[in-house]
Amino acid sequence: MKNKQLTNKKEILTKNQEIVLKLLEKSNEPLKAYSILFNLSEQGVKAPLQVYRALDRLIEIGKVHKIESKNAFVACINSNCTANSNAAFTICEDCDAVSEIHDNKEILKNLNYLANREKSKLNKYNLELYITCKNCLK
Ligand SMILES: [Zn+2]
Ligand SMILES: [Zn+2]
Repeated sequence: MKNKQLTNKKEILTKNQEIVLKLLEKSNEPLKAYSILFNLSEQGVKAPLQVYRALDRLIEIGKVHKIESKNAFVACINSNCTANSNAAFTICEDCDAVSEIHDNKEILKNLNYLANREKSKLNKYNLELYITCKNCLK
Protein backbone atom coordinates (compact mmCIF):
# COMPACT_ATOMS: atom_id res chain seq x y z
CA MET A 1 0.00 0.00 0.00
CA LYS A 2 2.83 2.40 0.69
CA ASN A 3 3.77 2.13 -2.99
CA LYS A 4 0.55 3.85 -3.95
CA GLN A 5 1.23 6.93 -1.88
CA LEU A 6 4.72 7.13 -3.22
CA THR A 7 3.55 7.28 -6.82
CA ASN A 8 0.98 10.00 -6.23
CA LYS A 9 3.77 12.41 -5.52
CA LYS A 10 5.54 13.95 -8.45
CA GLU A 11 8.86 12.22 -8.76
CA ILE A 12 11.97 14.32 -8.75
CA LEU A 13 14.49 12.68 -11.01
CA THR A 14 18.22 12.80 -10.62
CA LYS A 15 20.26 14.11 -13.54
CA ASN A 16 21.17 10.62 -14.69
CA GLN A 17 17.58 9.39 -14.44
CA GLU A 18 16.49 12.41 -16.43
CA ILE A 19 18.90 11.89 -19.32
CA VAL A 20 18.29 8.14 -19.47
CA LEU A 21 14.55 8.79 -19.62
CA LYS A 22 14.97 11.47 -22.31
CA LEU A 23 17.03 9.12 -24.43
CA LEU A 24 14.43 6.35 -24.15
CA GLU A 25 11.63 8.78 -24.96
CA LYS A 26 13.43 9.88 -28.12
CA SER A 27 14.25 6.35 -29.22
CA ASN A 28 11.76 4.56 -31.43
CA GLU A 29 12.90 1.14 -30.35
CA PRO A 30 13.76 -0.53 -27.05
CA LEU A 31 17.35 0.11 -26.02
CA LYS A 32 19.73 -2.24 -24.29
CA ALA A 33 21.68 -0.98 -21.30
CA TYR A 34 24.99 -0.92 -23.16
CA SER A 35 23.54 1.14 -25.96
CA ILE A 36 22.12 3.59 -23.42
CA LEU A 37 25.59 3.82 -21.94
CA PHE A 38 27.13 4.31 -25.38
CA ASN A 39 24.65 7.08 -26.24
CA LEU A 40 25.12 8.94 -22.99
CA SER A 41 28.87 8.74 -22.57
CA GLU A 42 29.25 12.29 -23.90
CA GLN A 43 26.83 13.52 -21.27
CA GLY A 44 28.95 12.23 -18.46
CA VAL A 45 27.38 8.83 -17.92
CA LYS A 46 30.43 6.61 -18.02
CA ALA A 47 29.79 3.64 -15.78
CA PRO A 48 27.33 0.80 -16.43
CA LEU A 49 26.30 1.02 -12.78
CA GLN A 50 25.06 4.60 -13.31
CA VAL A 51 22.82 3.38 -16.12
CA TYR A 52 21.54 0.40 -14.15
CA ARG A 53 20.78 2.50 -11.09
CA ALA A 54 18.88 5.06 -13.16
CA LEU A 55 16.96 2.30 -14.98
CA ASP A 56 16.08 0.52 -11.73
CA ARG A 57 14.59 3.66 -10.30
CA LEU A 58 12.76 4.62 -13.50
CA ILE A 59 11.24 1.13 -13.65
CA GLU A 60 10.30 1.35 -9.99
CA ILE A 61 8.32 4.54 -10.54
CA GLY A 62 6.71 3.30 -13.74
CA LYS A 63 8.43 5.64 -16.20
CA VAL A 64 10.30 2.86 -17.95
CA HIS A 65 9.46 -0.75 -18.71
CA LYS A 66 11.76 -3.64 -19.39
CA ILE A 67 11.10 -5.80 -22.42
CA GLU A 68 12.31 -9.04 -20.89
CA SER A 69 12.64 -11.05 -24.08
CA LYS A 70 14.87 -8.38 -25.60
CA ASN A 71 16.64 -7.45 -22.40
CA ALA A 72 15.93 -3.87 -23.41
CA PHE A 73 14.13 -0.83 -22.06
CA VAL A 74 11.38 1.48 -23.30
CA ALA A 75 9.91 4.69 -21.96
CA CYS A 76 6.37 4.29 -20.72
CA ILE A 77 3.82 5.92 -23.01
CA ASN A 78 0.93 5.40 -20.66
CA SER A 79 0.65 8.11 -18.05
CA ASN A 80 -1.40 5.79 -15.87
CA CYS A 81 1.46 3.42 -15.28
CA THR A 82 2.74 3.59 -11.74
CA ALA A 83 5.13 1.69 -9.56
CA ASN A 84 4.93 -2.03 -10.17
CA SER A 85 2.34 -1.48 -12.83
CA ASN A 86 1.05 -4.24 -14.96
CA ALA A 87 2.42 -3.85 -18.42
CA ALA A 88 1.69 -5.42 -21.78
CA PHE A 89 3.47 -4.99 -25.08
CA THR A 90 3.13 -6.12 -28.63
CA ILE A 91 6.32 -6.96 -30.49
CA CYS A 92 6.20 -7.31 -34.26
CA GLU A 93 8.08 -10.42 -35.37
CA ASP A 94 8.83 -8.88 -38.75
CA CYS A 95 9.89 -5.29 -38.07
CA ASP A 96 10.57 -5.51 -34.32
CA ALA A 97 8.26 -2.59 -33.56
CA VAL A 98 7.33 -2.57 -29.89
CA SER A 99 4.29 -0.83 -28.52
CA GLU A 100 2.65 -0.64 -25.16
CA ILE A 101 -0.95 -1.74 -24.89
CA HIS A 102 -3.03 1.03 -23.37
CA ASP A 103 -6.23 -0.40 -22.06
CA ASN A 104 -5.31 -3.31 -19.88
CA LYS A 105 -8.63 -3.84 -18.14
CA GLU A 106 -9.69 -6.76 -20.30
CA ILE A 107 -6.30 -8.41 -19.93
CA LEU A 108 -6.42 -7.98 -16.18
CA LYS A 109 -9.91 -9.44 -16.00
CA ASN A 110 -8.89 -12.49 -17.97
CA LEU A 111 -5.64 -13.07 -16.10
CA ASN A 112 -7.41 -12.70 -12.77
CA TYR A 113 -9.87 -15.30 -13.93
CA LEU A 114 -7.07 -17.68 -14.88
CA ALA A 115 -5.28 -17.15 -11.57
CA ASN A 116 -8.50 -17.66 -9.60
CA ARG A 117 -9.15 -20.85 -11.48
CA GLU A 118 -5.80 -22.11 -10.20
CA LYS A 119 -6.86 -20.99 -6.72
CA SER A 120 -4.08 -18.46 -6.69
CA LYS A 121 -3.85 -14.70 -6.68
CA LEU A 122 -2.44 -12.60 -9.49
CA ASN A 123 0.11 -10.09 -8.23
CA LYS A 124 1.13 -8.46 -11.45
CA TYR A 125 1.90 -9.19 -15.04
CA ASN A 126 4.42 -8.19 -17.67
CA LEU A 127 3.20 -9.52 -20.98
CA GLU A 128 4.84 -9.66 -24.37
CA LEU A 129 2.64 -10.50 -27.33
CA TYR A 130 4.34 -11.53 -30.56
CA ILE A 131 2.42 -10.16 -33.50
CA THR A 132 2.64 -9.11 -37.13
CA CYS A 133 1.92 -5.40 -37.02
CA LYS A 134 -0.50 -3.63 -39.35
CA ASN A 135 2.29 -2.19 -41.48
CA CYS A 136 3.84 -5.59 -42.04
CA LEU A 137 0.49 -7.16 -42.85
CA LYS A 138 0.04 -4.80 -45.82
ZN1 LIG B 1 3.59 1.93 -19.06
ZN1 LIG C 1 5.89 -4.92 -38.23
